[in-house]
Amino acid sequence: MAKLVAHFRCFCGCAETFPLTRAIYRCPTCNGLLEVAHDLDALAKTSAEEWRARFDARWAPRATDMALPSGVWSKREWVAPEVSSDAIVSTGEGMTPLYPARRLAEELSFGELYIKQCGSTHTGSFKDLGMTVLVSVVNHAIRTGDLRIRAIACASTGDTSAALAAYGAAAGLPVIVLLPRGMVSVAQLVQPLANGARVFALDTDFDGCMQVVKELASRGLIYLANSMNPLRVEGQKTVAVEITQQLGWEVPDWVVLPSGNLGNAAALHAGFSMAKSLGVIDKLPRLCIAQAANASPMYHAFVAKTDEVTPVVAKPTQASAIRIGAPVSAPRAMAALKAMNGVVEQASEDELANASAHADRTGLYTCPHTGVALACAMKLRARGVIGARERVVVVSTASALKFTEFKLGYHEHKLPEVTSTLANEPVTLPADVETVARQLSL
Ligand SMILES: *Cc1c(COP(=O)(O)O)cnc(C)c1O
Ligand SMILES: [Zn+2]
Repeated sequence: MAKLVAHFRCFCGCAETFPLTRAIYRCPTCNGLLEVAHDLDALAKTSAEEWRARFDARWAPRATDMALPSGVWSKREWVAPEVSSDAIVSTGEGMTPLYPARRLAEELSFGELYIKQCGSTHTGSFKDLGMTVLVSVVNHAIRTGDLRIRAIACASTGDTSAALAAYGAAAGLPVIVLLPRGMVSVAQLVQPLANGARVFALDTDFDGCMQVVKELASRGLIYLANSMNPLRVEGQKTVAVEITQQLGWEVPDWVVLPSGNLGNAAALHAGFSMAKSLGVIDKLPRLCIAQAANASPMYHAFVAKTDEVTPVVAKPTQASAIRIGAPVSAPRAMAALKAMNGVVEQASEDELANASAHADRTGLYTCPHTGVALACAMKLRARGVIGARERVVVVSTASALKFTEFKLGYHEHKLPEVTSTLANEPVTLPADVETVARQLSL
């Protein structure tokens, strides 16, 4: 195959392009977002059948094939083809289970319901998928002498920082993370500390942290790792390809995605459209962007039938990773919504917490964001927007093991705005066989 090249280009169509090794996050002409453009003509020289066979063969790699089986790098021609193998920084991300939620589907009258378990990964969220690409490109560019940086930095609601800190540490690169003080879970705060990142807890919300880190990036003080940087989107888009691959290269009817900054919505769209343009799939699924009602600017734009997403001040929500009032990738998500015949739905605190608890009762263990997606899917199903026979994939964005405060608070009836209808509390008993035995008949 001819040497594949990808580059940055303006999302709204300005002509200039830039190498992926350049520290650039906005179009210098129109100040709009950037995207990664691939050489689709070169990629199309490989047939759809061959791509499917190649990706399937790489799903179960021999230990000698690559350092680690990676859902992202097993599709490297579609992601960042120029990165040399020895520059790749991977933790074996991706290839996460597509869990058939049979009991839950039955109880909620879905035709077919799958949970894409993106939290079953190194740092416990889908952010690993994008971060492996970003850190690998930086690593590659430093080695080739194309890039010099002092540190990689991000603003985060907790999961981006965990991923950046881990991949940065694996590569031996300095990492700085900006967190809204007191607004991330204990596990999320500990992750970057453990990986040796410099953690700045700012007295503001995520949107405030984002403002600061963007300014640091524009002054050239740091390399920006937020999803405004399209390299993240390139890694995250492999989820779309994985989902279809796990369904035997069939496209689901719906994908439901908990969303905040909206980079992942753009990523799903990028993945499905790339697969479609190369003939690997024949249609796009419908997209549901699921938001927490306490932070739902995209939902408000959708209801008002406008393309302009008006920033809001995001209120506290258990779905803390999507507590975002001014989503950076709103224009990309708008395009995704249009192309995928999408809808936007929102879930209240009560809805998200009880949906999460319901799923847990069927053997899952769901984070609050997955709760948002499930609650939104349930509402769409109840209204008949999602049909009784349709095949639905809910993207679970993080491991619930990072959100123990949420789980405990639910079962102790302590979450604000929530009536815990499925609370289950431990029964304290003396260590006496007769007393315990009497309790066995429930
Ligand atoms: C980052 C994140 C999201 C939202 O992704 P966006 O690209 O910001 O929309 C959802 N859930 C979890 C757990 C996250 O960490
Ligand atoms: Zn432009």
